[in-house]
Amino acid sequence: MIISITMNPSVDISYPIEKFTLNTVNRVKSVVKTAGGKGLNVARVLHQTNVEVLAGGMIGGYLGKFIEAELDKESIQHRFFAINGQSRNCIAILHEKKQTEILEQGPVISEDEAERFLKHFEQLIEQASILTFSGSLPAGLPDNYYAKMIALCDEKNKAVALDCSGNALKEVLSNKTKPLLIKPNKEELGALVGRSVENNVESLKEVLSLPLFDGIEWIVVSMGVDGAFAKHKNTFYQVTIPKIEVINPVGSGDATIAGLAQALDRRQSDEMILKHGNTLGMLNAQEKITGHVNMQNYQNLMNQIQVEKV
Ligand code: ADP
Repeated sequence: MIISITMNPSVDISYPIEKFTLNTVNRVKSVVKTAGGKGLNVARVLHQTNVEVLAGGMIGGYLGKFIEAELDKESIQHRFFAINGQSRNCIAILHEKKQTEILEQGPVISEDEAERFLKHFEQLIEQASILTFSGSLPAGLPDNYYAKMIALCDEKNKAVALDCSGNALKEVLSNKTKPLLIKPNKEELGALVGRSVENNVESLKEVLSLPLFDGIEWIVVSMGVDGAFAKHKNTFYQVTIPKIEVINPVGSGDATIAGLAQALDRRQSDEMILKHGNTLGMLNAQEKITGHVNMQNYQNLMNQIQVEKV
């Protein structure tokens, strides 16, 4: 089965307010609360494609219980490690066609919890055929924590598809044991190499050939409406996608990771791996609810994707 890890999940609260006014009371009639976090989106998408998936990571307090209950409602298996702190709320105020977000930092993980999680994780790995790690690390964990988790997976010969950014990703790249795949978007790639990356074949090839990425078998740079650019070992691919009607692209990167991991797990061809990942990304962008895909449109979209060696 595929294990999808979210280290800092949240309760996502959406407050639609017609007019949002500062420094006074704003009343909300219809509140929507869902279990959020990039890895939970990965798990949801995998579940909808009928793949056996288990959601894991760290969770705490009554908000943690809410997240587990939401996953139960969706019949998604989970095995989280319980921490002392409280999982976080992330609030989105939807007003006047704008979105104002208030994101709690979340719990601070103690050294003891960090150590005990690794023991719990070591056991979890046994059940996995491949793992995905998505999103930021909670406060208290060192930047090299994902690198430590990848080393444990490596010991058991389990591949990891990693979707994170910033210092946690830098630490992974400088570590000896590497994930099988990383999926930075164009902005995250730019932040990693310290300059903006142009969307053309030559400059993408040059950036992905930097020594920084040595030893990473798959790099998939997702580029929203422009599809993706990928490097597998020494081969480069340009992925061109059709123009589609987009409803809500939030979570498309998570859906893409779900597809890439699933196709890698099935040892599909490079072309199929990239097509499957991009199709699920597009299907997510066509839905209102993050992490939802309508598989009825799968074949039609998939047929319109082109994967070219460049
Ligand atoms: P992230 O959410 O990590 O920033 P992207 O926005 O690049 O990732 O989305 C991942 C994939 O989802 C893209 O490579 C593409 O296949 C699909 N996708 C995302 N946004 C759009 C869009 N506006 N139109 C068509 N496809 C999209």
